[in-house]
Amino acid sequence: MRSWWGWGDLERAISPDRAARVASRIAGALGVAPDVLTGPVPWRDVQIPDSKLVIPAWLRDIAISDPYERLSHCYGKSYVELIDGFYGRFLSVPDLVLYPKSPAEVSACLEWASGRSLTVVPYGGGSSVTGGINPAGAESTSGLVSLDTSKMNSLIEIDVVSQAAHMGAGVLGPQLERYVGEYGLTLRHYPQSFEYSSLGGWIVTRSAGHFATGRTRIDDYVESSSMTTPVGSFSSRRLPGDGAGPDRNGFVIGSEGTFGVMTSAWIRLQRRPEFKCSATVRFPQFRFAVDAVRDVVQSGLRPSNLRLLDENEAMVAASTNTPGSILMVGFESNWGPASSLLDSALSIILRADATLISRTDSDDPSDGDAGQSTASADPSAAWRSSFLEAPYVRDAMIGHGILMETFETAVVWAELPELIDQVMEGVREQLRRLSVPGWVSTRLTHAYPDGAAPYFTVIAKVSKGSEISQWRSIKDVASRVIVESGGTITHHHAVGRDHASGFESQTDPLFLAGLQALKEHFDPSGMMNPGVLMTRAGQQP
Ligand SMILES: Cc1cc2nc3c(=O)[nH]c(=O)nc-3n(C[C@H](O)[C@H](O)[C@H](O)COP(=O)(O)OP(=O)(O)OC[C@H]3O[C@@H](n4cnc5c(N)ncnc54)[C@H](O)[C@@H]3O)c2cc1C
Repeated sequence: MRSWWGWGDLERAISPDRAARVASRIAGALGVAPDVLTGPVPWRDVQIPDSKLVIPAWLRDIAISDPYERLSHCYGKSYVELIDGFYGRFLSVPDLVLYPKSPAEVSACLEWASGRSLTVVPYGGGSSVTGGINPAGAESTSGLVSLDTSKMNSLIEIDVVSQAAHMGAGVLGPQLERYVGEYGLTLRHYPQSFEYSSLGGWIVTRSAGHFATGRTRIDDYVESSSMTTPVGSFSSRRLPGDGAGPDRNGFVIGSEGTFGVMTSAWIRLQRRPEFKCSATVRFPQFRFAVDAVRDVVQSGLRPSNLRLLDENEAMVAASTNTPGSILMVGFESNWGPASSLLDSALSIILRADATLISRTDSDDPSDGDAGQSTASADPSAAWRSSFLEAPYVRDAMIGHGILMETFETAVVWAELPELIDQVMEGVREQLRRLSVPGWVSTRLTHAYPDGAAPYFTVIAKVSKGSEISQWRSIKDVASRVIVESGGTITHHHAVGRDHASGFESQTDPLFLAGLQALKEHFDPSGMMNPGVLMTRAGQQP
């Protein structure tokens, strides 16, 4: 059963004993004691107003208004939302959850909602970390509807010759891979939220998978898309490339539910890689490792993994006690052994003051874990398992008063070192000012020839009752420094409501006015997801 407030499945939450051990290890490292565990307010004890809406007969098959459904569609998974959900403070709760099964039903739902001046918020997997699915008071006083796309989750058509598939927008990651896996194909788009996020959610929030270079952003995989708006529906033509005017998919990619509901997309697939190899390297200094990452991507090599952890991150995520930064590099291929590519990358990386810790090559395609080192001493193996478990650990720490939160950006190489220094210093200074024991660490998650995406993790012992204000003041500093240092307010976590003012401050006013005009064109009454992307867009009386 999906959690009504936190990540994933309730059955897979980590045990209280394990949570207590992790909490005391973290708190010990911070020089404090963790809070005694408290649990989330049970959903039956949460007080929410009755639904304002009566379900009309023709909607009965696809509409639900029971409290569990309404609660579990209220919030995404940002730290602020997790805290509110944990303490049973649910605001702007949808009056109704609609589950349309086709674009025609989406159209009918929007028409019905428009006729009653309701606000509609599209819902994919609910994994937004930027306030994308809770209108936070900007909803219509007539009522709020969560439009859940999960029943539009089928494989509509597959074109094996062109290696592309047409899928419903609500399909979640594992189901999508099962569909195309039957044809020996894969999308290979793996955000950390893969299990509980949807194709439509990925496209409208411009998600990034865990591959570090090459095709890793969902933008690269969208061949065509279909959207239903309050004033009608449109689709783009399937094309491998297109020079005819502005990009039609561009209206959909990154639109975050503000124009309408993405109902389906044709996505580009590839054959499953059969050859993989990887290596882990330690650097005494982070800045030398940054230079090595840049040299690798600028050489033209495109490793699937090129993830750099700073010293703090390596200690927490990769369980290593040896000082230094850790660089994980890996290649995969579906046409022949990838070892020579790894040789080339290592010849660049090891030119710097670096030590090879482990290397795994597998040229045997029958080995399912080809190239995945399982050595217990290998930091990259420890990092992989901690990557998947991290969201459950993050939730479990809330009850012990420990904040674990991340934010990210992208910036050109020339400005990267300065941005990282400024952000780390700004966050440390803010922690000191608040007298909050904590630390900040960083990693590079994605690397491009002209820049990279640094990702920051803050772990801190926050005070009960002040969790949200303490986190907000840290995040505000980080967001301001990021934009002032030339970075983007988000590389892949999306804009939502939390980053709307940052998006506005990094965007030319004339462009914003154009975006606002598009919003008014597709959504004249402002009923779609008011407040995402632009702070004033679509607010209703
Ligand atoms: C633990 C965790 C790990 C994460 N890791 C990553 C990561 O590695 N990479 C990454 O990029 N992101 C990551 N995220 C963020 C999040 O998973 C992505 O933003 C994801 O793309 C959201 O997909 P979703 O289906 O859950 O969308 P939702 O959360 O349901 O919605 C997100 C936004 O999109 C809108 N929306 C959703 N579906 C549609 C649709 N069909 N039509 C129109 N609008 C729609 C919603 O209204 C909302 O504004 C992570 C989040 C968590 C909690």
